[in-house]
Amino acid sequence: MVKRMIACCLLLVLALFGCTETKNTQYYMMDTVMSFSITGENAIAAERAIADRVAQLETVFSPTREDSELFRVNENAGSAMEVSRDFANLLALSLKASAETQGAFDVTLGGAVELWAHGKVPASEELEAQVTGSEKISLFENTLQTQKGLKLNFGAVAKGYASDCAKEILEEYEIPRALLSLGGNIYAHGEKEDGTPWNIGVRDPWGEAQDWLGILTARDEFIIASGDYERGFEEDGVRYHHILDPKTRRPATSDLRETVVVSQNGSRGDILSTALFVMGEEKAVAYWKNTRDFEMILVSSDGRVLITPNLKERFTLTKDSYILEVIG
Ligand code: AMP
Ligand code: MG
Repeated sequence: MVKRMIACCLLLVLALFGCTETKNTQYYMMDTVMSFSITGENAIAAERAIADRVAQLETVFSPTREDSELFRVNENAGSAMEVSRDFANLLALSLKASAETQGAFDVTLGGAVELWAHGKVPASEELEAQVTGSEKISLFENTLQTQKGLKLNFGAVAKGYASDCAKEILEEYEIPRALLSLGGNIYAHGEKEDGTPWNIGVRDPWGEAQDWLGILTARDEFIIASGDYERGFEEDGVRYHHILDPKTRRPATSDLRETVVVSQNGSRGDILSTALFVMGEEKAVAYWKNTRDFEMILVSSDGRVLITPNLKERFTLTKDSYILEVIG
């Protein structure tokens, strides 16, 4: 009898407190380390759905997997072809972004990206021979035709798009709180259990990974960073990073080392973090002044940290070697 009562009490306790759980996972997908921390009654199912969706997006946008849709599209350049809804959506968005950023973001740089991925400086003739330019693409609904030789690359936006898809899944599964990191792309969903916002570290571009120059608070937002410290290689004592200036097809000689965009939309945040880096400080600040629908942190190569005014109360500089400036 007593045993049965204890068992009933235990079941009651489990029913009351056992339903909310946190699922923490790590994956290597889309060529980067991803970590998900998801809390809620449906955490396990939501985590599975997100991991599956990201894995599926990798089969669409991977530039290197020979079984990806992008690989097939690049192989078939010159002929008309049908593309998936994800592909058409992200390409349409990318072409619009290319026009809006005056070509700083350019989804047609695939050939040049491939040349730089070999870990040595490509020959100038090879770089110049690449076919690039949005005007060489026609997309009508799901029908795509690109000019022969043109190669698309979604490296600057696919992880942001994946984080938008992950956000939709969190909402669908009614997840109250989660922190997702897709490489440099963070999505902070809800807030911490104690009702305070998430704290997101902003990387010190002169430091190692996990070395922060400041902390940003965030609720229901994407925080997306680009920087010259991420990928690249050294040749004859010169470092070559992975963000290309579409005009030269070479690593952008930016006066910025890092750009962080805070946005309500992951794809847009990812596009902008790359584009602002290419633009450099002056054009990036002018771009923000014209649009003002996102927040940003720019780390200049002379050690200044520029923040938009709305981040004043939300950003704390933790390294005194930097000078903090609020954009006017
Ligand atoms: P991110 O890390 O988001 O800044 O994206 C950089 C990646 O996007 C690179 O590794 C390339 O695959 C690709 N990429 C480089 N430069 C550009 C550019 N100017 N526009 C669009 N994609 C780019
Ligand atoms: Mg990007």
